[in-house]
Amino acid sequence: MSGKLDISELVKILISIAYPELQRLEVLPYWGRTSCFAQIRWDDAKNQISIRFNKNVKKWHEAGIIGLVSHELSHPAQKGAGLSELETDRDAISRGFGPYLAIERVYTGKFEDHLIRRGKDRYLGYRSIRAQLTQLERQQLDMLLSQIGLIPAKPSRPITMSHDVAIVDRKTGTTLMIEGHKFLIPENIRNPDIKLLERDCVTYVYADNILLGEFREEI
Ligand SMILES: [Zn+2]
Repeated sequence: MSGKLDISELVKILISIAYPELQRLEVLPYWGRTSCFAQIRWDDAKNQISIRFNKNVKKWHEAGIIGLVSHELSHPAQKGAGLSELETDRDAISRGFGPYLAIERVYTGKFEDHLIRRGKDRYLGYRSIRAQLTQLERQQLDMLLSQIGLIPAKPSRPITMSHDVAIVDRKTGTTLMIEGHKFLIPENIRNPDIKLLERDCVTYVYADNILLGEFREEI
Protein backbone atom coordinates (compact mmCIF):
# COMPACT_ATOMS: atom_id res chain seq x y z
CA MET A 1 0.00 0.00 0.00
CA SER A 2 1.19 3.47 -0.79
CA GLY A 3 -0.80 5.38 1.80
CA LYS A 4 2.13 7.53 2.76
CA LEU A 5 3.38 8.07 -0.75
CA ASP A 6 4.62 11.62 -1.31
CA ILE A 7 3.57 12.43 -4.86
CA SER A 8 5.86 15.50 -5.12
CA GLU A 9 8.85 13.45 -4.04
CA LEU A 10 7.99 10.68 -6.51
CA VAL A 11 7.63 13.12 -9.41
CA LYS A 12 10.92 14.78 -8.45
CA ILE A 13 12.72 11.43 -8.46
CA LEU A 14 11.29 10.33 -11.82
CA ILE A 15 12.22 13.67 -13.42
CA SER A 16 15.75 13.48 -12.05
CA ILE A 17 16.34 9.96 -13.38
CA ALA A 18 14.47 9.96 -16.67
CA TYR A 19 13.12 13.35 -17.77
CA PRO A 20 16.01 15.75 -18.40
CA GLU A 21 13.64 17.92 -20.50
CA LEU A 22 11.64 18.77 -17.42
CA GLN A 23 14.47 19.33 -14.97
CA ARG A 24 14.42 23.12 -15.16
CA LEU A 25 10.67 23.46 -15.17
CA GLU A 26 8.25 24.03 -12.38
CA VAL A 27 6.24 20.83 -12.05
CA LEU A 28 3.43 20.84 -9.53
CA PRO A 29 1.79 17.47 -8.81
CA TYR A 30 -1.03 17.12 -6.32
CA TRP A 31 -3.84 14.81 -5.27
CA GLY A 32 -7.33 16.01 -6.02
CA ARG A 33 -10.75 15.22 -7.27
CA THR A 34 -11.07 14.42 -10.96
CA SER A 35 -13.32 12.22 -13.07
CA CYS A 36 -10.37 10.49 -14.69
CA PHE A 37 -7.12 9.10 -13.30
CA ALA A 38 -5.05 12.24 -13.90
CA GLN A 39 -5.30 15.70 -15.37
CA ILE A 40 -2.20 17.42 -16.68
CA ARG A 41 -1.89 21.06 -17.67
CA TRP A 42 0.97 22.87 -19.34
CA ASP A 43 1.49 26.08 -21.26
CA ASP A 44 2.87 26.63 -24.72
CA ALA A 45 6.29 27.59 -23.44
CA LYS A 46 6.20 24.68 -21.00
CA ASN A 47 7.16 26.96 -18.14
CA GLN A 48 4.79 25.44 -15.69
CA ILE A 49 3.25 22.01 -15.49
CA SER A 50 0.61 20.95 -13.02
CA ILE A 51 -0.75 17.45 -12.59
CA ARG A 52 -3.78 16.59 -10.57
CA PHE A 53 -3.91 12.92 -9.64
CA ASN A 54 -7.15 11.25 -8.66
CA LYS A 55 -7.16 10.66 -4.90
CA ASN A 56 -8.37 7.10 -5.39
CA VAL A 57 -5.11 6.24 -7.16
CA LYS A 58 -3.44 6.40 -3.72
CA LYS A 59 -4.85 2.92 -3.14
CA TRP A 60 -2.73 1.46 -5.95
CA HIS A 61 0.63 -0.14 -5.40
CA GLU A 62 3.44 2.35 -5.94
CA ALA A 63 4.49 0.58 -9.16
CA GLY A 64 1.12 1.43 -10.77
CA ILE A 65 1.40 5.04 -9.58
CA ILE A 66 4.87 5.27 -11.17
CA GLY A 67 3.32 4.04 -14.42
CA LEU A 68 0.63 6.74 -14.32
CA VAL A 69 3.13 9.47 -13.38
CA SER A 70 5.45 8.49 -16.24
CA HIS A 71 2.58 8.62 -18.75
CA GLU A 72 1.66 12.12 -17.51
CA LEU A 73 5.25 13.40 -17.54
CA SER A 74 5.71 12.02 -21.04
CA HIS A 75 2.88 14.24 -22.35
CA PRO A 76 4.85 17.52 -22.16
CA ALA A 77 8.36 15.95 -22.16
CA GLN A 78 8.19 14.42 -25.64
CA LYS A 79 8.96 16.36 -28.80
CA GLY A 80 6.00 17.88 -30.63
CA ALA A 81 2.53 18.67 -29.40
CA GLY A 82 2.45 15.86 -26.85
CA LEU A 83 -1.22 15.17 -27.38
CA SER A 84 -1.15 11.68 -28.89
CA GLU A 85 -1.80 9.02 -26.25
CA LEU A 86 0.08 6.39 -28.27
CA GLU A 87 3.18 8.61 -28.61
CA THR A 88 2.93 9.39 -24.91
CA ASP A 89 2.85 5.70 -23.99
CA ARG A 90 5.76 5.03 -26.34
CA ASP A 91 7.74 7.87 -24.79
CA ALA A 92 7.21 6.46 -21.29
CA ILE A 93 8.25 2.98 -22.46
CA SER A 94 11.38 4.34 -24.17
CA ARG A 95 12.45 5.91 -20.87
CA GLY A 96 12.30 2.52 -19.15
CA PHE A 97 8.85 2.75 -17.55
CA GLY A 98 7.29 -0.06 -19.62
CA PRO A 99 6.90 -2.52 -16.70
CA TYR A 100 5.27 0.20 -14.57
CA LEU A 101 2.99 1.32 -17.39
CA ALA A 102 1.91 -2.32 -17.86
CA ILE A 103 0.97 -2.47 -14.15
CA GLU A 104 -0.90 0.82 -14.48
CA ARG A 105 -2.92 -0.68 -17.34
CA VAL A 106 -3.99 -3.56 -15.09
CA TYR A 107 -5.31 -1.00 -12.58
CA THR A 108 -6.99 1.10 -15.28
CA GLY A 109 -8.61 -1.92 -16.88
CA LYS A 110 -6.86 -1.74 -20.24
CA PHE A 111 -5.84 -5.29 -21.04
CA GLU A 112 -6.12 -4.77 -24.79
CA ASP A 113 -5.32 -1.53 -26.62
CA HIS A 114 -7.99 1.10 -26.17
CA LEU A 115 -8.61 2.69 -29.57
CA ILE A 116 -9.53 6.36 -29.73
CA ARG A 117 -10.01 8.79 -32.64
CA ARG A 118 -11.46 5.92 -34.64
CA GLY A 119 -8.24 3.97 -34.37
CA LYS A 120 -5.95 6.89 -35.28
CA ASP A 121 -4.75 7.03 -31.70
CA ARG A 122 -4.75 4.57 -28.84
CA TYR A 123 -3.80 3.79 -25.29
CA LEU A 124 -1.61 0.72 -25.27
CA GLY A 125 -3.07 -2.16 -23.32
CA TYR A 126 -1.25 -4.50 -20.91
CA ARG A 127 -0.75 -7.12 -23.60
CA SER A 128 0.92 -4.96 -26.21
CA ILE A 129 3.07 -3.13 -23.66
CA ARG A 130 4.33 -6.48 -22.43
CA ALA A 131 5.12 -7.54 -25.99
CA GLN A 132 7.29 -4.44 -26.42
CA LEU A 133 9.42 -5.00 -23.33
CA THR A 134 12.96 -6.31 -23.30
CA GLN A 135 13.54 -9.65 -21.65
CA LEU A 136 14.90 -7.94 -18.57
CA GLU A 137 11.92 -5.60 -18.36
CA ARG A 138 9.55 -8.55 -18.71
CA GLN A 139 11.26 -10.23 -15.76
CA GLN A 140 10.96 -7.00 -13.80
CA LEU A 141 7.24 -6.85 -14.66
CA ASP A 142 6.64 -10.45 -13.53
CA MET A 143 8.45 -9.76 -10.28
CA LEU A 144 6.32 -6.69 -9.63
CA LEU A 145 3.11 -8.57 -10.46
CA SER A 146 3.88 -11.36 -8.02
CA GLN A 147 4.98 -8.86 -5.35
CA ILE A 148 1.71 -7.00 -5.67
CA GLY A 149 -0.37 -10.14 -6.17
CA LEU A 150 -1.87 -8.79 -9.39
CA ILE A 151 -3.07 -11.09 -12.13
CA PRO A 152 -3.43 -9.33 -15.48
CA ALA A 153 -6.73 -10.24 -17.11
CA LYS A 154 -9.47 -8.68 -19.12
CA PRO A 155 -11.73 -6.91 -16.62
CA SER A 156 -15.00 -8.77 -16.19
CA ARG A 157 -16.84 -5.46 -16.33
CA PRO A 158 -15.39 -2.85 -18.70
CA ILE A 159 -13.91 0.16 -16.93
CA THR A 160 -15.47 3.14 -18.65
CA MET A 161 -13.62 5.80 -16.68
CA SER A 162 -11.55 8.01 -18.98
CA HIS A 163 -7.82 7.65 -18.53
CA ASP A 164 -6.54 11.22 -18.50
CA VAL A 165 -7.12 14.79 -19.62
CA ALA A 166 -4.52 17.14 -21.09
CA ILE A 167 -5.02 20.90 -20.92
CA VAL A 168 -2.76 23.17 -22.95
CA ASP A 169 -2.66 26.94 -22.45
CA ARG A 170 -1.81 28.76 -25.65
CA LYS A 171 -1.86 32.43 -26.50
CA THR A 172 -4.76 31.65 -28.80
CA GLY A 173 -6.72 29.97 -26.02
CA THR A 174 -6.88 26.97 -23.78
CA THR A 175 -7.68 23.58 -25.22
CA LEU A 176 -8.61 20.38 -23.48
CA MET A 177 -7.91 16.97 -24.97
CA ILE A 178 -9.67 13.88 -23.79
CA GLU A 179 -9.55 10.53 -25.58
CA GLY A 180 -8.60 12.31 -28.81
CA HIS A 181 -11.44 14.85 -28.58
CA LYS A 182 -10.55 18.50 -28.42
CA PHE A 183 -12.56 21.16 -26.60
CA LEU A 184 -12.00 24.88 -26.14
CA ILE A 185 -12.10 26.25 -22.62
CA PRO A 186 -13.65 29.76 -22.46
CA GLU A 187 -11.20 32.49 -21.49
CA ASN A 188 -12.94 33.44 -18.25
CA ILE A 189 -12.45 29.97 -16.78
CA ARG A 190 -9.06 29.95 -15.13
CA ASN A 191 -8.15 26.71 -13.40
CA PRO A 192 -11.23 24.61 -13.99
CA ASP A 193 -12.38 21.44 -12.35
CA ILE A 194 -12.99 19.07 -15.22
CA LYS A 195 -15.95 16.84 -14.70
CA LEU A 196 -16.94 13.99 -16.99
CA LEU A 197 -20.44 12.63 -16.85
CA GLU A 198 -21.27 9.47 -18.69
CA ARG A 199 -24.74 8.59 -19.82
CA ASP A 200 -25.67 5.94 -22.40
CA CYS A 201 -22.14 5.77 -23.85
CA VAL A 202 -21.98 9.56 -24.23
CA THR A 203 -19.45 11.45 -22.11
CA TYR A 204 -20.32 15.06 -21.27
CA VAL A 205 -17.33 17.28 -20.55
CA TYR A 206 -17.74 20.08 -18.01
CA ALA A 207 -15.30 22.76 -16.90
CA ASP A 208 -16.44 24.31 -13.62
CA ASN A 209 -19.96 23.03 -14.31
CA ILE A 210 -20.08 24.65 -17.76
CA LEU A 211 -20.72 22.12 -20.51
CA LEU A 212 -17.88 22.22 -23.06
CA GLY A 213 -19.24 19.45 -25.22
CA GLU A 214 -19.71 15.73 -25.45
CA PHE A 215 -18.28 12.68 -27.15
CA ARG A 216 -19.48 9.20 -27.82
CA GLU A 217 -17.54 6.25 -26.57
CA GLU A 218 -15.96 4.24 -29.35
CA ILE A 219 -16.36 0.51 -29.27
ZN1 LIG B 1 -2.52 10.76 -21.60
